[in-house]
Amino acid sequence: MTSREPRSVVSVAPGVVFVEGPVSNWVVLAEEDGVALIDAGYPADSDLVLDTVRYAGHDLDDLRRVYVTHGHVDHVGGIPGILAQYPHVEVLAHADELGNVRGPDRQQVTPAEIGGRLASPRVLRWLGRAIRSDALRPTTVPTARAFTARDFEGRAITPFPAVGHTAGSTAYLLPAADAIVTGDAVVSHHDTQPGSWTPRPRMITPFFTADQAVAVESARALPIPEIVLPGHGPAVHRVGREWLPVGS
Ligand SMILES: [Zn+2]
Ligand SMILES: [Zn+2]
Repeated sequence: MTSREPRSVVSVAPGVVFVEGPVSNWVVLAEEDGVALIDAGYPADSDLVLDTVRYAGHDLDDLRRVYVTHGHVDHVGGIPGILAQYPHVEVLAHADELGNVRGPDRQQVTPAEIGGRLASPRVLRWLGRAIRSDALRPTTVPTARAFTARDFEGRAITPFPAVGHTAGSTAYLLPAADAIVTGDAVVSHHDTQPGSWTPRPRMITPFFTADQAVAVESARALPIPEIVLPGHGPAVHRVGREWLPVGS
């Protein structure tokens, strides 16, 4: 059990459960041979991630794999804790992202860098939440491997390149759900952004991103279906010309 609470859990489509976690998000995906995760939160989230797999109606023994959007600690940090209990779970990422996923050194701004140069109360509140989520714990996922086209044959999930935020950032299309899981290539809101900003697809705060110009280009090229399941902020869907949180 865990004392951490998700901000929201929404069933987006049959077999697709989106979890807006305490600080970052993940998706529980039913697959023909079992259950998959897309991302797994911070190190402090691993038990909560497993709880949400059960909540989504799955047996944890059926957990087969984690698809990784990118190797930042708020997206892969929960994986070692999951592998400690379920060592057979496969971890798949883009080949260009493997260095970040395996760690411990990764292409990621450190809390010290952020805290040292920006002191807005909003950013410092986020920083406190990140540190309480074990952002500073060295995270390594040595068994992560590069996915290939074969990994997606016959599956309801397709990777789509979304580089710039990191070298191998990947979005995942879920065509049956008319949804895309964007990681941090596109978010709907981030705690470092003003609370008055209503959730809709947007760029994450630039200091998190390795190459902002490339990231903007990638975001423009992303296919955006009816539903966006971002790495931060609530799931949003199109209603006319607007975006609204799913389930609102
Ligand atoms: Zn993130
Ligand atoms: Zn990130």
